[in-house]
Amino acid sequence: MDIRIGNGYDVHALAEGLPLWLGGVRIESAKGCIAHSDGDVAIHALCDALLGALALGDIGKHFPDTSDEFRGIDSKILLARTMELIKGAGYRLGNADITIAMQKPRLSPYISEMRETLAKVMGTDVSSVSVKATTTEKLGFVGRSEGCEVFATVLLIGGEMAVR
Ligand code: MG
Repeated sequence: MDIRIGNGYDVHALAEGLPLWLGGVRIESAKGCIAHSDGDVAIHALCDALLGALALGDIGKHFPDTSDEFRGIDSKILLARTMELIKGAGYRLGNADITIAMQKPRLSPYISEMRETLAKVMGTDVSSVSVKATTTEKLGFVGRSEGCEVFATVLLIGGEMAVR
């Protein structure tokens, strides 16, 4: 049985007046992520988990933030390209579980759309993609709304089981 596990972690600082993108969805918010790309910290953590599962390095290695090609890029494109690498290596997604830590705004109204959007980009069923949101009870940089922090875990399935 050829299964691989990966974890990803990302943080972006928040600033007033920037658009906030999480899980491929535009979120109504006074603050957004400071970033070279669109700052979708949830997709970045997910990409790192996918790459990590196959020991392919990280998102910075594949999509350098020093490159003009990736300036302001829609992170869904980075996720699609990451999935091409995964599929090219003979694997498919088993499931993904993502936890977003953010003090405000409340993310619960956006969870379904994030799951559907991510599943579509990854070419998988929505039942294989979990997105959870938590505050940090006003503790730390997340609690002070200085940043957004995301943890992602994925399971990849390879070999004969990769063919459905
Ligand atoms: Mg990032």
